[in-house]
Amino acid sequence: MAVERTLSIIKPDATRRNLTGKINAKFEEAGLRIVAQKRIQLTPAQAGEFYKVHAERPFYGELCEFMASEPVVVQVLEGEGAIAKNREVMGATNPADAAEGTIRAEFAESVGENSVHGSDAPETAAEEIAYFFSGLELVG
Ligand code: ADP
Repeated sequence: MAVERTLSIIKPDATRRNLTGKINAKFEEAGLRIVAQKRIQLTPAQAGEFYKVHAERPFYGELCEFMASEPVVVQVLEGEGAIAKNREVMGATNPADAAEGTIRAEFAESVGENSVHGSDAPETAAEEIAYFFSGLELVG
């Protein structure tokens, strides 16, 4: 399987509860390497641009407000099949449906405040990584 990179975000509900280290441990235990990471405060406009694919969804406003409510940790994870592996470690969007041992099953508070974001395909991973990081910041 090819080595891939994927964009991960530790969301405000998790940074607020000091869960960054516990969530990073889950990634590392799964064989995902954190090759770039920074803690930033998104503006509502930046959150809106990042999630523009959801602009027509009823939860879009709430999602953008939440993502800009407190700092997030944006990171690039690298490993074999990293995009799918990260989605597996994250668990289903709604924590009620997330498999045992996944980040969302253990830490998410609700379907909206669900602790992590992860890219869903190679094209979106490339776009999302470029949204937050320059090539110089990616140290494999
Ligand atoms: P995922 O993050 O698992 O890829 P989606 O792409 O479907 O899920 O949704 C993006 C984000 O929008 C979710 O992680 C969650 O924060 C929020 N969201 C999705 N569905 C809902 C919903 N029904 N109500 C509130 N927020 C939602």
